[in-house]
Amino acid sequence: MKVLVLNCGSSSVKYQFIDTDKKLALAKGLVDRIGMAGAVLSHQRYDGDQIKISGEILDHQIAIEYVLAVLLSKNHGVIDDKKDIEAVGHRVVHGGETFSGSVLITDEVIKALQDNIELAPLHNPPNIKGIQAATRILPGTPQVGVFDTAFHSHMPPKAYLYGIPYELYRKYKIRRYGFHGTSHLYVSKRAAELMGRKYEELKIITAHLGNGCSMAAVDRGVSVDTTMGFTPLEGLLMGTRSGDLDPQVILYIMGKEGLSLNEAATMLNKHSGLIGISGESSDMREILAAVKDQHQRAKHAFDIFCYRIKKYVGAYAAAMGGVDALVFTGGIGENSYEVREEVCRDMEFMGIHLDQLRNQNKEELISSDSSKVKVFRIPTNEELVIAMDTAEIVSSSN
Ligand code: ADP
Repeated sequence: MKVLVLNCGSSSVKYQFIDTDKKLALAKGLVDRIGMAGAVLSHQRYDGDQIKISGEILDHQIAIEYVLAVLLSKNHGVIDDKKDIEAVGHRVVHGGETFSGSVLITDEVIKALQDNIELAPLHNPPNIKGIQAATRILPGTPQVGVFDTAFHSHMPPKAYLYGIPYELYRKYKIRRYGFHGTSHLYVSKRAAELMGRKYEELKIITAHLGNGCSMAAVDRGVSVDTTMGFTPLEGLLMGTRSGDLDPQVILYIMGKEGLSLNEAATMLNKHSGLIGISGESSDMREILAAVKDQHQRAKHAFDIFCYRIKKYVGAYAAAMGGVDALVFTGGIGENSYEVREEVCRDMEFMGIHLDQLRNQNKEELISSDSSKVKVFRIPTNEELVIAMDTAEIVSSSN
């Protein structure tokens, strides 16, 4: 099946047009700066052909119309007719407790997504806009929602409940949900494939390290714990987000600095993490360069970043009663040998032996042959998971 995968952010639309039979992206691209000056679509075809188109791209509907036009274009496109798009798969960030798996989009589903907006005020509204725009532009083409939270929806209550009054969970659904689910699912399954073992018999720890970072404990195919929580703010240190914090710290700062709720949220989500500690950058490449130049605060940022990951490796091995594989993915996980090396340092006691050369050479298996725990560097492919899920749901609903 040929599936258009859309990932709609507040001012961007990422897309891939995927042939699910061949597991191949025929085309991919990004519409950036939607609603701003200098909006641009960057498109790339499977054969390397590339094009950039600038225009007045005022909203998500126009952005998706541009995507359709370039997919249909004689010189740069890959289809002759709109009908060649057999289904559309949408990345949706928050499925709340309503969605534990991917769904065919209907009016009721859109209503349920709207009901979940409060849980993800930054992410779900553009996701919904994208679904509505694609439905208008491609009427009759089935649309499927694939949720970042779904893979974590089988966590046990001991992992998802917070230690706050239970009525607040009942009243406001305040609990841990977890995110990056499609990525954790993809790389954990891929690790099992690479090990030539059954997914259902392995204990795998996955670390998705990008601008947002999270880890998951995948126990025999089920995510039993993950570091992000009610929102994508909990857990690891990230580019601009604080991760784990004593909640009293927030109240204390709000009092001292006279911050409003919104200002406190901005401080924690935008001005913390790598950028907050280093004062230099939220980008790991720049942090690494600053560390080489002996920048003390960048060194703190790097150390805290790696230390938190290491602590969760220990925690998740304990939670699962063992670990067979550790997987690094995401922009940092895939590209920074320094981070992988630091996380795995002195972990031989639990059977993790990194092979320095394999790690620096960016191989897929980066542990030594004698390592009891296999360590992998696996490029994530969330779009492929979304396309495969979409094809499966559409085929089974026909
Ligand atoms: P997103 O979460 O937005 O999808 P990515 O997965 O692309 O982000 O990850 C972005 C992060 O990856 C940035 O911190 C960037 O510095 C880091 N990164 C990309 N390439 C490298 C590299 N070669 N070395 C270290 N970090 C890198």
